[in-house]
Amino acid sequence: MKVLIVGGGPAGTLAAINLGNKCEVTLVEEHQAAGFPVQCAGLISQPCYDKLKKYSKRSLVNRIEGAFFFSPDGNYIEMVGKRKGVVIERKILDFELIKEASRTAEIFLKSTYVESCVESGSKKARIVTSSGERLEEYDLLIGADGVNSRVAREFGFSRPEIFSAVQVELAFECLDENMVELYFGRYYSDGFFAYAIPIDSSTARLGVVSKSDPKSYLERLVEKHPSVSKRAGKSVIEVNAGAIPVGLNEIFKENVCLIGDSAGMVKPYTGGGIYYHLLAAEILGRNFPDLGKYRSDYLKLLGKDYRTGMRILRLYSKLSDTDYNELVRVGKDMFESYTKELDMDHPSSLLSILPRLIKLVSLKPALIAKIAKELAL
Ligand SMILES: Cc1cc2nc3c(=O)[nH]c(=O)nc-3n(C[C@H](O)[C@H](O)[C@H](O)COP(=O)(O)OP(=O)(O)OC[C@H]3O[C@@H](n4cnc5c(N)ncnc54)[C@H](O)[C@@H]3O)c2cc1C
Repeated sequence: MKVLIVGGGPAGTLAAINLGNKCEVTLVEEHQAAGFPVQCAGLISQPCYDKLKKYSKRSLVNRIEGAFFFSPDGNYIEMVGKRKGVVIERKILDFELIKEASRTAEIFLKSTYVESCVESGSKKARIVTSSGERLEEYDLLIGADGVNSRVAREFGFSRPEIFSAVQVELAFECLDENMVELYFGRYYSDGFFAYAIPIDSSTARLGVVSKSDPKSYLERLVEKHPSVSKRAGKSVIEVNAGAIPVGLNEIFKENVCLIGDSAGMVKPYTGGGIYYHLLAAEILGRNFPDLGKYRSDYLKLLGKDYRTGMRILRLYSKLSDTDYNELVRVGKDMFESYTKELDMDHPSSLLSILPRLIKLVSLKPALIAKIAKELAL
């Protein structure tokens, strides 16, 4: 059976690695190398890294113990969850994954998938390379071509909601080089949050994910945030912009399937995609060529986390800056001990502790009602 994978990002290469020798795999990537331009902060959980390090030995940049959750007034809560994290360098990870995939798959760089056609009764893909155009026959087409997936559009797959992101790597005085900083509030994002992912004690990836205009929110974060503005340096090392799909969509139709951002395989409450791609690729490989089982096993594993993740995402738009200030003020001591039960890869762990927390803290009844309604407690 001939499988054609479009896209050499983590979703495409992990799919190729997991399909291994079960079929004849060809992967096409339009750029000269995968991982460019970088559109990632590189934060993944330790269990995700433990699986990836089989293929990627050099991508580790930093280790993460937990996170500081900032309210807009500059106060913060420290949360150290059950799972630790790591920061990786995507350029290196993507390079190493392509190398691993090339052990069993045929990889063509600088090769763009344009469209499919039927010729002499077989399905063929039109691929444009630097030396011209060719047709590649396939039995199964896998769209791992990212958030703006050409494959998904061509075959009429439903599309996820899109958030925008802008990120800069810059000199930054981190509160703790092993703690991520998350900045909440409508003044710093429309419907999501801003973040600082430390590379070391004096450098971080500072970014904003937002429904609209993340660049203006990022400028405001750097210039006006009571804590960030005092610690962000002026010298920017790298600027990245990208899009984040939220909400899982259709993932297969007849002999076409999607994996990764093209399918909305991203945690809706953080925008992190790599762990979900890794799990999806394992499930695809295990069930190949049964695409129905690929979908049902993926939903069995992550369906509950998607539902909770979407509710948390909605809550970001419902809480006002005053609500965030109040939450951090009253929750400071109590939240910190309860969050040891939280798992960054599984937001449903939040549902088990939140009702207990709400009972404990003296929040305004209207704020309790708002949180309970959005999280369907
Ligand atoms: C600012 C930002 C920060 C992020 N931070 C994190 C984070 O900290 N942790 C995390 O887990 N996730 C993070 N993410 C999400 C993560 O980067 C994505 O989920 C992940 O890169 C998606 O992988 P993918 O393989 O599906 O798509 P991509 O990485 O986009 O790869 C798709 C590939 O397909 C190729 N392609 C596209 N069209 C064609 C075509 N027609 N023919 C051939 N090739 C084609 C592209 O060149 C590209 O290489 C972040 C996203 C953004 C925007």
